[in-house]
Amino acid sequence: MVVVMRGGASGTDVDKVVKAISEVGGDAFVSRGKHQTIIGLVGDPTQFAELPLHAFPGVEDVISVSKPYKLVSTETHPRPSTVWVGDTPIGRDTVTLLAGPCAVESVEQTEAACGLAVEAGATILRGGAYKPRTSPYAFQGLGEPGLDILHGVARDLDRPFVTEVVTPADVDVVAAKADMLQIGARNMQNFQLLKEVGMAGKPVLLKRGLTATIDEWIMAAEYIAHTGNLQVVLCERGIRTYEPSTRNTLDVSAVPVAQSLTHLPVIVDPSHSGGKRELVLPLIRAGIAVGADGVIVDVHNRPETALCDGPQALVKDDMLHLRETVSRYASAGGREVATVDRTRRSGAWGRSATA
Ligand code: PEP
Ligand code: MN
Repeated sequence: MVVVMRGGASGTDVDKVVKAISEVGGDAFVSRGKHQTIIGLVGDPTQFAELPLHAFPGVEDVISVSKPYKLVSTETHPRPSTVWVGDTPIGRDTVTLLAGPCAVESVEQTEAACGLAVEAGATILRGGAYKPRTSPYAFQGLGEPGLDILHGVARDLDRPFVTEVVTPADVDVVAAKADMLQIGARNMQNFQLLKEVGMAGKPVLLKRGLTATIDEWIMAAEYIAHTGNLQVVLCERGIRTYEPSTRNTLDVSAVPVAQSLTHLPVIVDPSHSGGKRELVLPLIRAGIAVGADGVIVDVHNRPETALCDGPQALVKDDMLHLRETVSRYASAGGREVATVDRTRRSGAWGRSATA
């Protein structure tokens, strides 16, 4: 069950509901959104049967949720959410372009690749400093120095950035600089990491695990929401199938399915799914056509020298096509490409909110 508080409910109203729930032996998890507070009830539903929750001051609705996920479910919150990353929205009305190098390799490479991303209209930059590699012999990322490079380049370009965090021990360091934290596909069910990242209070990009069902993916998002952080964006990045001609199979159906089950934004990653440069633009077209709220794209200035994922990176000559493709497919679906909202500039970036 979920208790939805009215927009104007006070902290005392929320505390009274929480107290009543714990008095009957239940657990209450409070998620404070920008406009509304939601209280998730965990326990045997018969415990709550006698509680007149509707009658408590500040309570708008009491909803019985049939899904195992509650806080991120459309049953709780039918209106799609917008997650703000710095001054850029990711939500159902717009299509957001996130782009940058797969990995941060050097200052020069990061400047060049992020410069290309901005040229294509990216409003959020990406780049991995901590890389989760299948092989222990592969480039593992520059770690904290890489984070500093990306932070410096993103600030010079006046753009927020997302970067991956692979272990709970690194969450504080990464959250101190990044505007959005990425949980990679291989860590989607690293529950301790999900909790730590949730508690960092920054927006989170949650990639779908290679073999995760949509329900498992949404349950992972629920772990983050459970910490009180509803600023979660889901990313479909291709799943493992029997088909070897692509790196992974972009599950386009997952976009509308996830959007029907959760109010969270859903974006697609055409780079890690296709795994080949020539597939990136077609997969962007497919992703936006099925309603993705954004796309995250690998870009490199010299992919032949890239330390990670060169074959799938778009290059300088692709930037105009990237811009045009995103814009044309967004408008075909009646949406606009997300732009920066300067009014969000007051205060430090990263103090984002869920609408
Ligand atoms: C990435 O985005 O750099 C990445 C490693 O992606 P994934 O976790 O989807 O493989
Ligand atoms: Mn990559």
